[in-house]
Amino acid sequence: MNSDVTMEKIVSLCKRRGFIYPGSEIYGGLSGTWDYGHFGLALKNNIKRIWWNMFVGSRDDMYGLDAAIIMNPRAWEASGHVAGFSDPLESGKMFNTMFKTSVGAGEDATTAYLRPETAGGIFVNFKNTVDSFHPKLPFGIAQIGKAFRNEIAPRDFLFRVREMEQMEIEYFVRPEKWEESFREWNSAIYRYIDAVGISRASVHELEVPEEDRAHYSKRTIDFEFDFPFGRKELSGLAYRTDFDLSAHAKASGTDLSYLDEDPPAGGKQRFTPHVIEPSFGVDRTILALLVSAYTEDELGGETRTYLKLNKDVAPVKAAVFPLLKNKPQLVAKAREVRASLLQATGYGLQAIQWDDNGNIGKRYRRQDEIGTPACITVDFQTLEDDTVTLRDRDSGAQERVVSADVAQRLL
Ligand code: ATP
Repeated sequence: MNSDVTMEKIVSLCKRRGFIYPGSEIYGGLSGTWDYGHFGLALKNNIKRIWWNMFVGSRDDMYGLDAAIIMNPRAWEASGHVAGFSDPLESGKMFNTMFKTSVGAGEDATTAYLRPETAGGIFVNFKNTVDSFHPKLPFGIAQIGKAFRNEIAPRDFLFRVREMEQMEIEYFVRPEKWEESFREWNSAIYRYIDAVGISRASVHELEVPEEDRAHYSKRTIDFEFDFPFGRKELSGLAYRTDFDLSAHAKASGTDLSYLDEDPPAGGKQRFTPHVIEPSFGVDRTILALLVSAYTEDELGGETRTYLKLNKDVAPVKAAVFPLLKNKPQLVAKAREVRASLLQATGYGLQAIQWDDNGNIGKRYRRQDEIGTPACITVDFQTLEDDTVTLRDRDSGAQERVVSADVAQRLL
């Protein structure tokens, strides 16, 4: 981790550059909530897309799900959350951190909960998925979505919030295969960490001792990250046994066993699959990525700040500048260069930004703070020989490149 990075610097950059704002800010905020602005949302969407492509889109053994946030409260009784999803208050009393709401009107209203984790919807749809797709074990169900926890002390920007997003997989296996699957998902977590660009040197595994594990888990590894406020959980990998399927089967009266038509021992076998659960918080992933990417250096005798984001997560892939905005020929040429880049790269307008505001130095600074990997400047020489200045974010180096060759450098 860059030792100069502080939470104040990150929070301030996020606000200044349109990534993340305090929730309900004009009313004085609401503790534990943050609002994603234009670039923060683009970054978030990229992070979710990479996860989805890696773990669902590019695999044959995965199924997607988008379940309702409000579930029948009996599901949270069966899973143990109503009895046990609690944190200690200062007084020592336990406080259940599920958000309560009520469903229905008047006397018919019943108490329900906003889901505290996305996993619940997955277990409840296990049978639907099996009936629709007849998957062979091992297979997984993945879900990205909001989850809510009435945290007693929300803090540290996106780290501990009350409304968050999770990316979770329940991977169903034959009971004797759990260790093999646990190992596979352990390495898969690093593939994702590398793909988004979180500094691997700042990630550490913590084998969670039995007394600290969630009630459903027989083995948990926390993947911790060196945040500026300490080494804290970024992601978790848990072996949830058959706890959830068995508990939901019992409470709902629905058979949630699986008929293996081709077990290793031959014949047919009916049993309750066991579960490996890799779980990521989107918001903590974004925070770890921002901490990894935030960089300050000296360039041209001045201190500058930039986000060292890889092009897959960067909200903007490139920016095109006409050197001067009051020279119609330059502006027209720059528009032409942008249009051909859009066509050659397949990126949308938002991914190749236009900026003609202020001097070039200021424009570079803006793009650096957003994490834009490349800037392209069209100047008078462009009108003569069709070359542009291609400027690299990390080194600040500028080179003349034939404009038709720029697209391949961006991809
Ligand atoms: P912690 O011990 O830090 O409270 P947890 O062990 O309760 O976290 P899990 O129940 O394992 O967390 O949730 C899975 C993932 O969801 C976590 O790894 C984390 O990335 C994310 N997460 C959980 N609680 C929060 C929160 N309040 N704010 C932001 N992300 C969270």
